[in-house]
Amino acid sequence: MTTLSIIEKLKTTHAATRDELIFLLDNLTDADREELRRAAQATARAHFGNKIYIRGLIEFSSVCKNDCLYCGLRRSNRRAVRYRLTEEQILSCCEKGYALGFRTFVLQGGEDGFFTDEVMCGVVRRIKSRFPDCALTLSLGERGEDSFQKLFDAGADRYLLRHETADASHYARLHPEGMTAQARQAQLYALKRIGFQTGAGFMVGSPFQTTANLADDLLFIKALSPQMCGIGPFIPHKDTPFFDKPQGSLTLTLTLLAVLRLMNPPLLLPATTALGTIHPKGREMGILYGANVVMPNLSPTEHRKDYALYDNKICTGDEAAECIRCLAARMQSIGYQIVTDRGDYRGDWQPL
Ligand code: SAH
Ligand code: SF4
Repeated sequence: MTTLSIIEKLKTTHAATRDELIFLLDNLTDADREELRRAAQATARAHFGNKIYIRGLIEFSSVCKNDCLYCGLRRSNRRAVRYRLTEEQILSCCEKGYALGFRTFVLQGGEDGFFTDEVMCGVVRRIKSRFPDCALTLSLGERGEDSFQKLFDAGADRYLLRHETADASHYARLHPEGMTAQARQAQLYALKRIGFQTGAGFMVGSPFQTTANLADDLLFIKALSPQMCGIGPFIPHKDTPFFDKPQGSLTLTLTLLAVLRLMNPPLLLPATTALGTIHPKGREMGILYGANVVMPNLSPTEHRKDYALYDNKICTGDEAAECIRCLAARMQSIGYQIVTDRGDYRGDWQPL
């Protein structure tokens, strides 16, 4: 077994065993990483050309009943500033976004009891009737399967729910008692079954993570075969139990983006805000390692800094219009172009 033979296998069969993935991640040379970047970029280009899909992120509530140990919005964090957008405010974010060319809106928030099925379905219906040509993505954490079904029936198209880590004992070290990897994964399968375009994902370099954990994450994604996968480095938040844990590495995040692209060629793969937070050119590098999506922020500027999952989050001061201009310029600087498109998953696509 050599790293190059594993990369070759990833390129030709889009698969690798657990042992191969562990060996690869533990033994990568700079030359290997370069080969991964080249291959992943070529694969993304074959599927998407130089087009980058944009998703307008609306962080609609910083209230959360959960207590994930890594997250600044956890309920035990008494210093977090809590806000909740009104339905009108959410719609006005969409309105602005639509004018700027967004055709996908992502409503993301903490697990906020105010947004019952009834309230949330109302929001979904209003957005979908006002913007029928747009896709609507929800990222509301865990809910009952019947709740997912109601949201889907109300018109939501997609759902993002990172699995965080596929390994049950690792998951238990990142979450309070009562939250389990098994429940999380069951929710993802339910979402897919209902018909959502589904997004899973994980943090890179979260506390206690091992290479074997990452190999399991890659294999979980392969098995679930979601339409989207969000990954970004873990970044500590000063008011959480993990305040002194080191942040995830840029190089490792880029490597994993490339491996994910090779293992799942049509996957919608964002270059995340967390990646842009740990390096000024993080998102550009993410694209060059095989990502094909960016998610500029459409949240009202006055609340941006309060949606603090981790410290030093970028783009908290900019208006939506500035955000999109800035990202368009960043993408152009590396030869890519953001497009006005719903950017649906096209797993049945023939490469360009
Ligand atoms: N409440 C929802 C959505 C908001 S959190 C949910 O939990 O699914 C969205 C994502 O932010 C989480 O899935 C997690 O992967 C990421 N996140 C939270 N805290 C983070 C941190 N400290 N560093 C990096 N990413 C973090
Ligand atoms: Fe709440 Fe999501 Fe943060 Fe967990 S990660 S505390 S569910 S906002």
